[in-house]
Amino acid sequence: MNLARQPQHAPPRSPLRGPALPIGLAVTAIGVLMSLVSLPSAPADARVPPEPRVVQAVPPVDVAATTAADPCAEQVVRDAIAAADDAATIAAFGGAESFRAAVAAGNAPCIALDDPSHVWVVVNKARPLNPVDFAPQSLAPAPVRVTTGSGQARADVAAALGAMAAAAAADGVGQIGANNGYRSYDLQVRTYAGHVRSEGQANADAASARAGHSEHQTGLALDLVACAPCGGIDAFGATAQGAWVAEHAWEYGFIVRYEAGATGVTGYKPEPWHVRYIGPELAAAYHHGGFHTLEEFFGLPAAPDYLH
Ligand SMILES: [Zn+2]
Repeated sequence: MNLARQPQHAPPRSPLRGPALPIGLAVTAIGVLMSLVSLPSAPADARVPPEPRVVQAVPPVDVAATTAADPCAEQVVRDAIAAADDAATIAAFGGAESFRAAVAAGNAPCIALDDPSHVWVVVNKARPLNPVDFAPQSLAPAPVRVTTGSGQARADVAAALGAMAAAAAADGVGQIGANNGYRSYDLQVRTYAGHVRSEGQANADAASARAGHSEHQTGLALDLVACAPCGGIDAFGATAQGAWVAEHAWEYGFIVRYEAGATGVTGYKPEPWHVRYIGPELAAAYHHGGFHTLEEFFGLPAAPDYLH
């Protein structure tokens, strides 16, 4: 159960923080209006101007958005890709929304969505990791309480998790811990086999990935729990921490990967505990664009089941 999410295909949510300029304009406009309206029936100082509200959501604009017809031919893009610098590559495209739009339009052949070394990798039942036994180069312990032996994530992802958990604690919702982070190809073989043994293959495929198809193998995904004492992953969505993560994960570069209502696209039942790191730039574009699956974000087909 996940009460904090909107239904899939809901209209884009309003940004939490609108741009400064429209708010300033709104304040100015309200000020002008107030000065023009005569209010003879009451002393002026009894009239408290209403709090200005941004009624219409204004999506953030990539001011440096590239209009290049062929962004992959741009030298700044080629240099960023050669440096394996994901943030610089996204910036070279003109920002995350321009990057996303180019990929979704099929206009970014230099961006490999199946390369697990990048934050934009898309792994699902139709898209195995390439190579299938991929292992990340740098792993670090998740800087939170961990309830299994799989407590590592890619180093930058572990750092982002630490920042997110600290912010949640500072907001008073309690401690966030991790159940599972990185799982190797071999461990995923055993994890999936265990699900098949206990639940049968159909149920296993709805809840666990086959080896080579798991986001956990990328080092970019973690299953979160609420602590302390730490609960299980199934309880997370109904906790204060789960609600906080659903609302704020994007601010730390994460998305909740398997939302309610998206099973037909992702191939998985809702997992409010499973967060996937895509970096702060892409996560902001995902949030502000009102997306609910990574497949739709990048214009990929739904992946409800394995191809064979
Ligand atoms: Zn997971």
